[in-house]
Amino acid sequence: MSAHHIADSADSQERTGLGNYFVSNYPPFSFWKPENLGAAREALQQAPRPETPLGLYLHIPFCRKRCKFCYFRVYTDKKADDIESYVQALEKEVELWMQSSLAQNREVQYIYFGGGTPSFLSVSQLERLFTRVKRLVNWSAAAEITFECEPGTLQRQKLEMLRQAGVTRLSLGVENLTDSILQENGRAHLSEEIYRAYGWAKDLGFPQVNIDLISGMVGETWENWRQVTDKAIEMAPDCVTIYQMELPYNTVFSKELKMVDETPGLAPTGTVADWPTKRAWVDHAFTRMEQAGYSVSSAYTVVKDPLKTQFVYRDSLWRGADMFGTGVASFGHVRGVHVQNLDTWENWMGALDKGELPISRALALTDHQRFVREAILLVKTGSWKSADFIARHGKDPLVEFKAQVEDLCSKGFAEKVEGGLQLTRPGLLQIDKLLPPFFEPEFQQFKRYT
Ligand code: SF4
Repeated sequence: MSAHHIADSADSQERTGLGNYFVSNYPPFSFWKPENLGAAREALQQAPRPETPLGLYLHIPFCRKRCKFCYFRVYTDKKADDIESYVQALEKEVELWMQSSLAQNREVQYIYFGGGTPSFLSVSQLERLFTRVKRLVNWSAAAEITFECEPGTLQRQKLEMLRQAGVTRLSLGVENLTDSILQENGRAHLSEEIYRAYGWAKDLGFPQVNIDLISGMVGETWENWRQVTDKAIEMAPDCVTIYQMELPYNTVFSKELKMVDETPGLAPTGTVADWPTKRAWVDHAFTRMEQAGYSVSSAYTVVKDPLKTQFVYRDSLWRGADMFGTGVASFGHVRGVHVQNLDTWENWMGALDKGELPISRALALTDHQRFVREAILLVKTGSWKSADFIARHGKDPLVEFKAQVEDLCSKGFAEKVEGGLQLTRPGLLQIDKLLPPFFEPEFQQFKRYT
């Protein structure tokens, strides 16, 4: 029996075991295959579906240091020359996607620089990248330009440049505000760098500043989490995103945990709190933040002003928008087809050197799968409005998922309300764990998403 199955068995269900619960897409990635790439290529040769927004994701896979909980494709050892070649290849890739028929006569409505650490790039690299991308994409028409930052990579000058370039949503990977916890989890920055960077960001007046936190980092305690919550409220960002710590395979922590599991007598160096504790911490933060005037806008986010603080990237993607995912291992979606890029440096670079789109696997969704996907992702905002689904898909999730909805309601995780469904707080805080029953039968046993 694998460690993942052990984590799922009844007696240890609440322990944070190995594996992912977080559902970021549907159908699961393990069903995206190279043999389906033809569908992606075909989709790119067609005109867009009416009223489908288009987005652009740019992956910057560099970090100063690998966090012990990180499972992303990131590089911490690349030299200046490699980084330069990467940025050039990325520009080439954006150009290739934008040449497709699917992109013709279309504005890009949202742009997302993610990672890795986009702010790892120098001011001159960023200036050049932005100049090139702006030649290919009408940047000023985009409703949102998000840029992820690791606080320790920021200088005031870099933020000034980002602000001037038109970044509308700055997202700071804070994770915790206590130095010993940041260090124990392998973060590259300390709290001093967070406060300094945050001060500049506020000073420069970015339209929206988000901070990311993680509930359940190794070393976390109730006392510390209460302080983190209070300090985050004091910082007063427009948006706070809180993830619950997971232990996916291939992280430093999960390798340690596996060794401890397999070695009698070996004590763990640090443990991640169990799921009920992590949920209680998020609940505490949400409750305190609500008292401070924030509104809960999804299972992971609170926002200061729900009317002003949109998250176009998430909301578009969850509703089935198109997105060109550029960069090594990036994910995208084109006209009903999921697509992922080649996931090694050499292969990704190699394809672009030959002037080819660096795509590696794909999955064309059926209409029903698009409906299921949207229902699964949108319920993470805390509710479904039946009329929305009927207008977009011609069917109501409350009818299609009658048995699953009854089950959630009977367990106190959701309530039927006028025109739809509303999750309760306990339902919202463990929504990812509650989603597999909504999958089509052939995908239900797959709880691992990488
Ligand atoms: S900063 Fe983010 S992407 Fe980079 S190593 Fe840490 S968790 Fe991974």
